[in-house]
Amino acid sequence: MSRTPPVPSRLPDSGTTIFSVMSALAQQHQAVNLGQGFPDFGCDPALLDGVTEAMQQGHNQYPPMPGIPALREAIAAKIAALYGHGYDAQTEITVTAGATQALLTALLAITQPGDEVIVLEPCYDSYVPGIRMANAVPVAVSLDPLSHAPDFDRIAAAITPRTRAIMINTPHNPSGTVWSEADMLRLQQLLDGTDIIVISDEVYEHMVFDGMPHASVSRYPALAARSIVVSSFGKTFHVTGWKVGHVAAPAALMTEFRKIHQFNVFTVNTPMQHGLARYLQDPAPYLGLPAFYQRKRDLFASGLQQTRFRLLPCQGTYFQCVSYADIALPERDLGEAAFCEWLTRDIGVAAIPLSAFYGQPVDRQTIRFCFAKQDATLQQALERLARL
Ligand code: PMP
Ligand code: GLN
Repeated sequence: MSRTPPVPSRLPDSGTTIFSVMSALAQQHQAVNLGQGFPDFGCDPALLDGVTEAMQQGHNQYPPMPGIPALREAIAAKIAALYGHGYDAQTEITVTAGATQALLTALLAITQPGDEVIVLEPCYDSYVPGIRMANAVPVAVSLDPLSHAPDFDRIAAAITPRTRAIMINTPHNPSGTVWSEADMLRLQQLLDGTDIIVISDEVYEHMVFDGMPHASVSRYPALAARSIVVSSFGKTFHVTGWKVGHVAAPAALMTEFRKIHQFNVFTVNTPMQHGLARYLQDPAPYLGLPAFYQRKRDLFASGLQQTRFRLLPCQGTYFQCVSYADIALPERDLGEAAFCEWLTRDIGVAAIPLSAFYGQPVDRQTIRFCFAKQDATLQQALERLARL
């Protein structure tokens, strides 16, 4: 008799990610999908041309393991120009298969079994499973429940001799808050004298609004010296499906990162790397991104203000969180996940429950919309949300 042997689950608490679940539900009910974070518009044709030409020119075999030199050099030059830190393209930059792979590879590279890794909740849903896959121990510290700002007293209280790393994320998914310079200086001061590594998830680095700067850890030499900085071309250039990202870290950390990377994905698809290297020569596309998304944020927010949803502040990312606590419908008390299912099915707009970003059950009657959408898509969603 054929029999598949049972295996104990590495991730017994995980099902299918909320992003897949909500996108499938949106499709099933033909809802406007403001759930999973991705644009519903195309990228710059110039970027497509660069990739197409690279394929036609025969750039279709394995590239060097850490990424093609031209792309690593372009990334290093961009970071130096924007944040003033000179990473060595040879030894300190690696191209990854998106930020998710980069985050997991970083965790596998720096932790030993039983090491503690601090996460700030709410946090992106791959962090805690990634820590568990590395046989490390997640230690959740709450961000300020109202402002979603880091609470350094709580972070300090969570540090133990086993703390190996802290994962931070600015601009922050899901809340849309951004860290200030003062936050970074507090973190720098807190970690001074420790061996704690910072894994800094900066995938929304080019989506900071209202003239604020992006507080990259690489701006702060004492933080940069202990940090693995992760970003994603998927977010910056409207190509989430390409799954190309990058990591910057001091050479000693990058050496360990690459040991894992080479046996995990080995390397990242070649033509995209060539196309991105060429496209990065012009800074205008990413320098124009704050204005591009700020206009969408404002359009969406002004429409939402005509509804019964209450807006939370959005300083960055392409996410707008709203509270539905003022909407006196029976569905309000179902819990956030069930509310999102109802909103998708009956109102025709998909969203993500904030509870998906917590390890413990929470219900703040708050959900996240993605506004990386064409204006017409946002208008259609707003018309439906206005019925509530
Ligand atoms: N970090 C955060 C905070 C994210 O929102 C996402 C989702 N895009 C990722 C990492 C993963 O990025 P990628 O698609 O490049 O793997
Ligand atoms: N980062 C995206 C979000 O937060 C989704 C990525 C994914 O689907 N895994 O919506």
